[in-house]
Amino acid sequence: MKARVMAVSLKGEIEEYALDLGFDGVGFAAVDPFTGLTQALREREEGYRWTEQVLQLNRAADPRVVMPAARTLIVLLYDYHKLSFPAALLGKVGRVYLARLYPGRTRIFGSRLRLFRSFLEQKGMTVELRQTLPDRQAAVRAGLGTFGRNTFVHFPGRGSFVAPVVMAVDAELGGVFNEVGSRCPEDCNRCIEACPTGALYEPFKIDPLRCISFQTYCAGNVPGCPPDIPPEIREKMGSWVYGCDICQEVCPRNQSRLKQKLPSDPYLKKIAPHFTLEKLLNMGEDYYRARVQPLLYGYIWEKKFLQRNAAIALGNSAGEAALPHLSRSLSDKEPLVRRYSAWAVGRIGGRKGRALLERHRGRENDPGVLAETGAALEQL
Ligand code: SF4
Ligand code: SF4
Repeated sequence: MKARVMAVSLKGEIEEYALDLGFDGVGFAAVDPFTGLTQALREREEGYRWTEQVLQLNRAADPRVVMPAARTLIVLLYDYHKLSFPAALLGKVGRVYLARLYPGRTRIFGSRLRLFRSFLEQKGMTVELRQTLPDRQAAVRAGLGTFGRNTFVHFPGRGSFVAPVVMAVDAELGGVFNEVGSRCPEDCNRCIEACPTGALYEPFKIDPLRCISFQTYCAGNVPGCPPDIPPEIREKMGSWVYGCDICQEVCPRNQSRLKQKLPSDPYLKKIAPHFTLEKLLNMGEDYYRARVQPLLYGYIWEKKFLQRNAAIALGNSAGEAALPHLSRSLSDKEPLVRRYSAWAVGRIGGRKGRALLERHRGRENDPGVLAETGAALEQL
């Protein structure tokens, strides 16, 4: 009886400290294996092969494989829709990245996590905080939210612009086992209908290889991911260069949050002018390190991948006004940037686009860029 009283009081202390640090909710989940996740990864092996190589998701689906002494999963929630996002960044960068929920030593979110972890350690617990522990599934199991058909977890009163973080501890804290459920209205299919690429191919199922968000940061950039963004996906990427929020933006369960008048984020307001597609397309290394990486952190490891995304976005959304910028990027030293710039010029097309591609073909040496330039000309 005594031990039970102590455990309850420890839970209370943990909750209070997490809220004090600025987290918006805390839950406790049982550590049993996430068999549904293992099964989903097995069934969709093709699309998720890269996750095994990079994240070892399959392994982390059983928290006790990652940490044999684990007894409870603690789930922290961080609502990242408390400040408004500048219009100049919306539609280009996903809100979760704009919110900068990064673990690094110099980042505020990372500092919150470190403080929380050290609090648990001071209480005598061993803590495993691994990004690959299934955070969404753990949040649902802890009873904090329910899955939407768009695969995001929806939290009562907050919607889905909320990041769950999960950690395993070796203390028995009475973690619960909620069945995975959904509270989507029966007749709602808006997320699936709005997904431009068909990545949401069935309720609760996503094909990462078709997802814009995945393509912006994984293609070519992450080991095990396909090296290129297929042309049929490129033309559906709109102006996104990092992430995609469409299936959350259309969700009726997010509308009240999206319509809220929120104070602006002074940091985002200050840096928004650095993120025009034209600047991203032709940025130099110093610009990337000093101006871009602090916002986008380390998920795009080389600037050429962000330049590629900017070329696609310009091709999709800027029309002939983008041609002078693409003409410049056709001289970039990276063949990848030249290749996607050629694609973008072909996508814009017109007399000026054709002339630019023909001029470029006459001076290009790289076989990949030449092939892309030839393909772009053929489409015109
Ligand atoms: S993030 Fe974008 S591309 Fe991916 S599933 Fe949602 S709407 Fe589709
Ligand atoms: S758009 Fe509709 S179906 Fe999709 S997650 Fe939201 S409520 Fe569920």
